[in-house]
Amino acid sequence: MTVQRLSEEWFTRCQERSLSMRRCDKCDVNTFVLRQYCSLCLGELRWCPASDSGEIFTLSLVGKSEATGAGLPAPYVVAYVKIDGALFLTNVRYSTQYPHIGDQVTLDWVVLEDRVVPLFVLST
Ligand SMILES: [Zn+2]
Repeated sequence: MTVQRLSEEWFTRCQERSLSMRRCDKCDVNTFVLRQYCSLCLGELRWCPASDSGEIFTLSLVGKSEATGAGLPAPYVVAYVKIDGALFLTNVRYSTQYPHIGDQVTLDWVVLEDRVVPLFVLST
């Protein structure tokens, strides 16, 4: 299966507001990297649902940009969120409290043009 087919499948799952990841049952590893085979043991990866919450592993504040972050105007936060042992590159929406490494976040969705895209918000 090509990366393009895996990407199409991932976005189809997002349309259903289901955050999915790839799992290797042979070595018990999860990843958000869209590939057919495990990079550790070459076992075949399968789709599995990801948790709807995670922890900020690292983050960066984009203070000025012509591009938006998942529809969020600058300033916005780009972060790696640790979910089920895997890192997911995403945006974190916040209001007054700036996010920090280690903060708990919860999955949310935003519609951008014709696609439903995941992002995360600070857990309360
Ligand atoms: Zn493996």
